[in-house]
Amino acid sequence: MNLLIQDAGRYYREHFGEPDFIVRSPGRINLIGEHIDYNGGFVLPAAIDNAVYVSIGKRTDTKIALYSVDYQEHFEIELTAIQKTQVHWANYVLSVVVTLQEAGYRLGGFNAVVRGDIPIGSGLSSSAAVECAVIFGLNQLLALDLDTMQMVKLAQRAENEFIGVKCGIMDQFASMLGKQDQVIQLDCRSLAYQYFHFQPNEYQLLLLNTKVKHSLADSEYNQRRLDCEAGVAHLNRIFPEVSSLRDATAEMIESELKGLSDDVYDHCLYAVQEIKRVQEACIDLVNEDYVSFGKKMFETHKGLSEMYRVSCPELDFLVTFAGKHKDVVGARMMGGGFGGCTINLIKKEGVTDFIDRASETYLETFGILPGAYPVTISAGTSLVQAQF
Ligand code: ADP
Ligand code: MG
Repeated sequence: MNLLIQDAGRYYREHFGEPDFIVRSPGRINLIGEHIDYNGGFVLPAAIDNAVYVSIGKRTDTKIALYSVDYQEHFEIELTAIQKTQVHWANYVLSVVVTLQEAGYRLGGFNAVVRGDIPIGSGLSSSAAVECAVIFGLNQLLALDLDTMQMVKLAQRAENEFIGVKCGIMDQFASMLGKQDQVIQLDCRSLAYQYFHFQPNEYQLLLLNTKVKHSLADSEYNQRRLDCEAGVAHLNRIFPEVSSLRDATAEMIESELKGLSDDVYDHCLYAVQEIKRVQEACIDLVNEDYVSFGKKMFETHKGLSEMYRVSCPELDFLVTFAGKHKDVVGARMMGGGFGGCTINLIKKEGVTDFIDRASETYLETFGILPGAYPVTISAGTSLVQAQF
């Protein structure tokens, strides 16, 4: 049995007695469709096997009592007096509680133990996994009668407001709605979604962690959003039907934005191309053409690096290296950029060799040993059915 489930059960018993149940909520990857959520386009996330496990049970008083196995730390607070705490991880549980309270739900006291194996701060959304596990657990425990989409939106609000991170909806959505061997094409404008089978038998998905985070990330992210908005505002005067880059075409950008600032032109063109690329990549999946899918991952990287300009030397290095390895069919930076992970699609027999070589040369060049995480696509948030 999964050791993390065992831990979540065992530590609960040690501290609080018998849990009512355990919830599992996974981390997520995004196969393609980067910097697209705020441009109203399509993304293609999937839940992974790395996950957060939360064992949970009711209390008879009005306290929340928490224990983190990974941080080996206790935290307790009264339901009526919740505020942000110095105990960083506890904030992710509290964020959900406060958001539910603000939405008008009356909560009772509960105990919870948190255990997980999603690499933290690496772009796999461990924070969303904690939030989704907690909201799913509370919904079940306290019979709140929330549907899945309500839980997704409340978990996102928890991260946006209490934590103060302006993430889009993709992270919580993918953690909650993932399915084994399926990626989700999510329309970030309408929130309509569609599953596509992803079972590349001879290939493995592998993340390489640059282990760098350049401080540019936040300011550049905001600037990209502003540039895209400026492009849309300009196009909208000529084409009233364009209210986001989702509605724009490469031809519109070519004819109307050329001559404006290079940044606005390049950034808008990348976004329009990427929105189209996600749709074409889904056709590759229907055709089970993983080589063609992989090529699009490289194209996305080129666009992010040269046009959207959110990559960095470490990410470019790993993707270029991947492009030269005979067994890699696709690679790109994943996430906001300026650090974090690359995502690679690679023939299974080449995985060990690729990790060894990439690690060695990355270490030589940057003095850092990268992280390597093979991932498989797994189910979204659910109750753990196993004995614990
Ligand atoms: P990420 O990119 O992984 O979402 P964030 O900085 O947004 O990174 O969130 C990471 C935070 O989520 C951690 O600092 C911690 O507070 C919380 N967290 C993640 N995994 C766990 C865990 N297993 N146990 C307790 N808290 C966790
Ligand atoms: Mg996060």
